[in-house]
Amino acid sequence: MIREAEEQARKDFEDHEKKVREMAEKAAEAEAEAADREKSKLDAEKKRRFEAQEAKRKAGEEEAEAAAAKADEYDEDACAGCGEPIEDDDEDAFDALDRTWHADCFVCQHCKKNLADEKVKAKKGRPYCLKCYGEFFCPLCFGCGKPITDSVLKAVDTTWHKKCFVCAKCGKQITGDFTCTPEGLPICC
Ligand SMILES: [Zn+2]
Ligand SMILES: [Zn+2]
Ligand SMILES: [Zn+2]
Ligand SMILES: [Zn+2]
Repeated sequence: MIREAEEQARKDFEDHEKKVREMAEKAAEAEAEAADREKSKLDAEKKRRFEAQEAKRKAGEEEAEAAAAKADEYDEDACAGCGEPIEDDDEDAFDALDRTWHADCFVCQHCKKNLADEKVKAKKGRPYCLKCYGEFFCPLCFGCGKPITDSVLKAVDTTWHKKCFVCAKCGKQITGDFTCTPEGLPICC
């Protein structure tokens, strides 16, 4: 009789152990699945941003290309902006990007802001304001989504501003070694 009770107690204990084990396994599985879902969400987001950026760059290059082709047909000493001749007494006209321009015609290829007294970036010999150039031709930061106009940090299949590459856990800027969360974000601690 005692043996039977002992046997039963042992069996109950084993059943209980088995249940606990199964529950732990299920929880681990659910956790792994959640991490997988997060990771594929992040991968999809990376892909989406990369494609959007490529599309923008392509559109920008086509725009610059078309403008450059048009300017190629102008007389060599005509204004590279409007194609009209530059009068000898036009004191505001100037040379830039290997061509001559009326001061009023030296505008951003995209937003048309006048750049006669501004810093410019050039694409295919056409002037762009820094903002438009960044928008079309600079890689976007995966942290803040804005163009990277200074040095680009490449990590975890994405591009970042140095200041935006921060630890997903403590929020500090990462300058040294780091590992990744299952979702592919950097952590330093
Ligand atoms: Zn002009
Ligand atoms: Zn512009
Ligand atoms: Zn950023
Ligand atoms: Zn950290």
